[in-house]
Formats: sequence, structure tokens, C-alpha cells
Amino acid sequence: MTKLARTPDPIDAGPGVARDALVAWLAEALRVARFKDYCPNGLQVEGRQEIRHIVTGVTASAALLEAAIKAGADTVLVHHGWFWRNEDPRVIGTRRRRLGLALAADLNLLAYHLPLDAHPVWGNNAQLARVLGLLPDAAPGEGGALPRTAGVDGLIWLGSAPGLVTLGDLAERVESRLDRPPLVIGDPGLRLGSIAWCTGAAQGMMQEAVDAGATVYITGEASEPTAHLARETGCGFVGAGHHATERYGVRALGDAVAEQFGVRVTFIDIDNPV
Ligand SMILES: [Zn+2]
Repeated sequence: MTKLARTPDPIDAGPGVARDALVAWLAEALRVARFKDYCPNGLQVEGRQEIRHIVTGVTASAALLEAAIKAGADTVLVHHGWFWRNEDPRVIGTRRRRLGLALAADLNLLAYHLPLDAHPVWGNNAQLARVLGLLPDAAPGEGGALPRTAGVDGLIWLGSAPGLVTLGDLAERVESRLDRPPLVIGDPGLRLGSIAWCTGAAQGMMQEAVDAGATVYITGEASEPTAHLARETGCGFVGAGHHATERYGVRALGDAVAEQFGVRVTFIDIDNPV
């Protein structure tokens, strides 16, 4: 919140893009209008009109905002923004603090939730597949351009794990690539067939993955009923971490923005064990 942090460092000042142009491009590229979401997608807090340095991160926590301000950014681009449905809307406590940080530094806050989970290239599901070495199935009749999906808004992706034979192999792969031991439910010797995945807190969609023929379902979080569902259906479950499975989409999106507009984009990972 210091005056110093609000003044862009002249060395850092690269080419800029008008905020409205960036927001319009993102809305189109991520097909924002197609999603019924639990939060507003797009510009959530208005800051400077000229954007020169974007910090990307998973969640617009106070820690990320502080890191962005310290880095001299004028814009924060995240997967988890603010103003979620059914949240207490009062500007008190942690919300007051976060909002205060953004407003005092004249930061733009841009957030894309479901549109960023689902995007066929930059999305969290697409990027998790890349990181874990999963091979998405192609949707029939789309010329291989779109993945085969299930569930609402096509949020569950279906595919295979080339070179991996058992649930135990997959669990090892997840641990080594995401640098975090996953929660695994099921026999480690379970033979892998079709694999389904959806990043974040998508444990509530496991039945749809089972119905789509998955032998294993990978998501970020688990709930108490998840274990029973896995045991009773015989579908293996891998809880790989909410944050850990959603680190890659916003980063890929940031790279795309940097390439498109030539602005400086910095990904900052604020560690989260959940
Ligand atoms: Zn999430």
C-alpha cells in the first residue's frame, strides 16, 4: 500500500494493453458467456486502464495481492477471484483487507473460474493432462479438436494414461509430477482403463465419471462420501490437491496473454497444502 509500490518501475514498464481490450479478448477466448458460474468471470475490481504488468496466480488471496504489489504489477489474473455466490457480501474482515489492498494499489482484478477449467488448450483440465502425461480422448465428430467430456459444461475430461498400468503407477506419477502425495482410494493393483479427471473440488462429480465408464477418477479434493462411492463402484479415486491441480491453467493463460499483447506476465505460486 506504499506509494512506492504503486509507481511502476520504469525498467519494468514494457508495452501496455488497454484494460478493456484485454478483458474483451479474454471473454471471447474463454467463451465466458457460455458458462453459468458461481462468481462473476472477467473484471472483478477496476484499476488502471493501461495494463503493463500482470501477475497470475491460483487465488486472489491477500498474500498474492501483496506479492503482486511488491512486484510492481498493475493487474492480478486468477482462477479463484472474489464475490462467490452465497458469500457474506459485507466488506469486513478478510474481505475488507483484500479489497483495501487492491484499491489502494489501483490494481485490476481479473478472474476466470469455470471458463478456465474447461478451455480446451489453456484450461486446468487440459494443462493437468499435459503435466501428468494423460492422453485426452477426442470428442467424436469434432475432427480431434475437442476433448471427449462428461458432466455439466463438459467439466470432466476422459482419456487414458499411456505407459501406466495400475492405479499404483498413476499415484506415483501424480506424486512425482505435482510434488505432493495424493489421497488414493482403491487397490493399487487396479488395472487402468478409461481415466476421468476434473481439477479442483469436483469430488461431487465422481458418479458422472463412473457413469461415463471411468476406472479411475482424479480430482483435487475428497469428501467423506467419496471413499464409499469409490469402494462401492470399484472406481479408483485420486485426490491430487485442489491447488496442485489448478496451478497450470492460469499460468498457460498468462503465457497466451503475454504472447498476444506483449505485456509482462509473472506467475506467482502461493503454496497451499489443500
Ligand atoms: Zn478451484
